[in-house]
Amino acid sequence: MSAIVGIDLGTTNSCVAVLEGTEATVIHNELGGRTTPSVVAFKEDGGILVGAAAKRQAVTNPRDTLFAVKRLIGRKFDSPATAELRRTMPYEIIRANNGDAWVRVGDRDMSPPEVSAHVLGHLKRIAEEYLGKEVTQAIVTVPAYFDDAQRQATKDAGRIAGLEIRAILNEPTAAALAYGVHRTPTGSVIAVFDLGGGTFDISILRIEDGVFSVMATSGDSFLGGDDFDRMVIDALVHEFQEEHGVDLGEDPVALQRLKEASERAKQELSSSLDTEVHLPFVAVGPQGPLHLVRKLTRDWLEQLTRPLLERLEGPCRRAIGDAKLNAAEIDQVVLVGGMTRMPAVVEKTFNIFGKRPVKGVNPDEIVAIGAATQSAIMRGGLKEVVLLDVTSHSLGIRVEGNRFSALIHRNTHIPVRETKIFATTENDQEFVSVEVFQGDTPLVSGSRLLGQFLLGDLPRGPAGSVQVQVSFTLDVDGILCVDAKEIRTGKVTSKRILASSGLSRDTVEELSRAYAGR
Ligand code: ADP
Ligand code: MG
Repeated sequence: MSAIVGIDLGTTNSCVAVLEGTEATVIHNELGGRTTPSVVAFKEDGGILVGAAAKRQAVTNPRDTLFAVKRLIGRKFDSPATAELRRTMPYEIIRANNGDAWVRVGDRDMSPPEVSAHVLGHLKRIAEEYLGKEVTQAIVTVPAYFDDAQRQATKDAGRIAGLEIRAILNEPTAAALAYGVHRTPTGSVIAVFDLGGGTFDISILRIEDGVFSVMATSGDSFLGGDDFDRMVIDALVHEFQEEHGVDLGEDPVALQRLKEASERAKQELSSSLDTEVHLPFVAVGPQGPLHLVRKLTRDWLEQLTRPLLERLEGPCRRAIGDAKLNAAEIDQVVLVGGMTRMPAVVEKTFNIFGKRPVKGVNPDEIVAIGAATQSAIMRGGLKEVVLLDVTSHSLGIRVEGNRFSALIHRNTHIPVRETKIFATTENDQEFVSVEVFQGDTPLVSGSRLLGQFLLGDLPRGPAGSVQVQVSFTLDVDGILCVDAKEIRTGKVTSKRILASSGLSRDTVEELSRAYAGR
């Protein structure tokens, strides 16, 4: 039987694990590391570096080194998140023909899935080296709060890298599985709090007799360690400007050095109360070379990043509320993601949940271990374990008056199929436009358009007399398929939702061949 590997494709770091017997093990990369930086670099000679090698040369090649591309996956160029990334990333972000956010390196335009495929392909090779055979199947994790477009794009990345994605698993669910499968605290409720480099997820699960049932999930798909780094960078750039009149933000090399130094300082402040940023020759002023030397304290960092720390609270409260619990009913809090090493983050979880988080979980590896564990369930090797996940967003369509009419409510167990009947609103209406939205607001203006399509050639009749049945099918991977049927004639239009974004099937196949023939 060929292996199914479990892959945590993180914003900052990725990790691959495989099942050996009944235990999932993390596979070491070529340098002996247990995680691999999610960084891809394009060299002038046409070579491509991935992982630690790519990260190492970032300072000398900032414009062609792509990191944190997961923050762009499935996003529109015109979104506020993309605008923020364009302001802060040293590489170029462009608008693709379909409006998606892509990257440009030299004269090459690439979609985020193409870039992520390099990371997945690298992990695939690491696993192949270790196992001594080809690996063609994987379970890949995504943030629970990822939407349809982001999940679809992640699947495309796998396909391009030559991996059949057997399942898309939510990261906190994977972590809960890895945590609970052997400890089996039956009848208990756990909260998984996952703060990584780019995203924040909170999921609440009940574990009972081997059934892992997600009760509620929430999060912020644009909140993570990178944002903490950014606040440090901005503060240091601002101070330097005040002091020397030089804007370090204009120099990609200085900015990249500052980024690395800021992240290192942030990490050091998790174990020390103070540290120093020391960047000699960071710029040249009228009087010659300038150096950046600055002492930083943990207090300073906590004050500075208070607004980000505050943003962790809302999603947690919402998830607790959606699970119809109060915080005291949560038995254990499991921390996942590198950012949960920051003492102020731990403190925040304590304030919210009123208890200390459990120890003994490796926050960098548990998600990949969970993904590999899921492969055992799929293979029938863990018969007593069942996973029931939920959708993190409400899904529906636009109806008269720009109102949002939900078909599937957030925190519904998946897979699920829901159907609703709508009537025409005009006499002799020729077609209906089915506009699919995700959101939780009464009006579509506060929701996100996932795609739209037309159902035409409707039979004539007065307003309200022609009825259209709309069905939403959400699969276990959280990917949506919509169909609409005119009831009298039975005419059907159906759609996998990628009308407004993403790569076509043909493009994915083409990129996959190109990747294989590299
Ligand atoms: P992802 O899953 O998004 O790839 P990780 O879980 O690997 O992310 O977390 C990466 C983030 O955690 C980065 O922003 C990194 O700087 C941060 N991080 C790692 N170690 C520490 C630490 N000791 N203190 C504070 N932040 C840390
Ligand atoms: Mg992660």
